[in-house]
Amino acid sequence: VSETTILAPELVLLPGQHRAASGLEIVVEAGRIVAIRPRRQGAAIELPGQMLISGAVNAHQHGRGITNFQHGFADERLETSLHARIGRGRLDPYAMTLLAAKRMIASGVTACVHGNVPYGSGDLAGEVDAMLRAYDDAGLRALVCVGAQDRAHVVYPEADEAAFEHSLPDDLRALVASRRKPPYAPDAEATIAAMDQLWPEWSGHARLSLGYGPSGPQWLSDGAFEALAKDAATRGAMLHYHCLESWTQRAACDRLYPEGVLARLRRLGALHDRVSLAHIVWLDEDDVAIAADAGVTLVRCAGSNLNLSVGQAPTAHYLAAGIEIAIGTDGRSIDDGEDIWREARLVWALARGDGWEAPPAPDAAAWLRALTSGGAKAGGFAHVGEIREGWRADLVAVNLAMLRGIYADPDSGEVELLAKRMTAEAVRLTMVEGRILYRDGAFLVPELERAEALAAASAQESKRTRNADAAAMADRLRPYLDAHYRRWVPPSPRLGAPLPRAHRAPALRKA
Ligand SMILES: [Zn+2]
Repeated sequence: VSETTILAPELVLLPGQHRAASGLEIVVEAGRIVAIRPRRQGAAIELPGQMLISGAVNAHQHGRGITNFQHGFADERLETSLHARIGRGRLDPYAMTLLAAKRMIASGVTACVHGNVPYGSGDLAGEVDAMLRAYDDAGLRALVCVGAQDRAHVVYPEADEAAFEHSLPDDLRALVASRRKPPYAPDAEATIAAMDQLWPEWSGHARLSLGYGPSGPQWLSDGAFEALAKDAATRGAMLHYHCLESWTQRAACDRLYPEGVLARLRRLGALHDRVSLAHIVWLDEDDVAIAADAGVTLVRCAGSNLNLSVGQAPTAHYLAAGIEIAIGTDGRSIDDGEDIWREARLVWALARGDGWEAPPAPDAAAWLRALTSGGAKAGGFAHVGEIREGWRADLVAVNLAMLRGIYADPDSGEVELLAKRMTAEAVRLTMVEGRILYRDGAFLVPELERAEALAAASAQESKRTRNADAAAMADRLRPYLDAHYRRWVPPSPRLGAPLPRAHRAPALRKA
């Protein structure tokens, strides 16, 4: 028996409109919007002073209910941050993911892409299964990625690892040698075996899907990329991975892929319209053309990029090239609050080029599209991202008074109001697949009650069981990592443009 829910908001934002419509109600059955019609008398859920919009998609995050900063790890350069967690005790993937899901629901996120994240148990399928159970219990829609990495466990590019280890004192060399093991499964075959284990239980789920999440090109061999891309295509599964996040990754990839990294990934079958790439800060003009032609979705994470000192992408150029853009918080949003609306605003502010020659700032409609349809494409979520009859009922009600403040020009469109003023705090109701998960500050999902307690207990246990000696040694690694990576000098500021055609990192600066 399928229940009917009727939502009667003051305004509804329909596809392609920059003004919201009034006098409508939305009829929801079996997880879908079955009718958008004039309001009638009857048993509707009245939402006075609220505007119904399609929920946001957080298109790149790692299920971190407790942020890195809360765990005690300050912001630093990406490459040293990767080693900062040496010695940390294990965290509980279910607890971390459940709290992340809860926070997303309260902030108006109705779907997310959960990128690769290792928990160190040695049981890849078990870890991913725990994350899926958390999203299942929370009621959120999610693409969850099975992680993969088979090279460069210490530094990139892998060819430099021997020289790097040679530069270390004996005790640090031993510490680093102990890190030289794959964080997920040993190879592509074992990764696919983990997927085989998970597939029967989860592949038919209405809200949840499985994909592959390679760590990134400098971390995965061509053979493994090819094998995972082929297996994903056979299953109809998504690929979602980090790509060209920092200048040093760009420099490493220039050595690994003389024809260009996106050109190589495309040849390996790992770059097409069922693929989304996170960060993509350092594309050159050839890469932009390939990304546009391949139909790949690019996920921007501006707060994370600022916090990890990796630079900013020329997002306006990507949009002008016709590339679909999505937004992710990456668990490192600008104010550590995981507010996807603010993160999208940050991406948009940084997309404005400097000076008159730069492409025009992308508009409010494109901002909303990145948060909704763009995110849905990044996650492979079908019939998600717009309020349409027959589409999934993933809806958010927004407090209009909070959006407008004491006065807002009545000629301003609601899309412009959202782009300029929407925040997580303005969310009054969150519905996913036709089920109301959150309303007026209260969670309507019993499983979410324990989320904070479970996550806090896991964080405390991780701190208690940490290897303090290893952590102290890891602190001493920083200057050596710094010396390794600082050899590549980034180009001068790009003024909001991609790198020039066929750009290659300059030869190494002599030590
Ligand atoms: Zn990430």
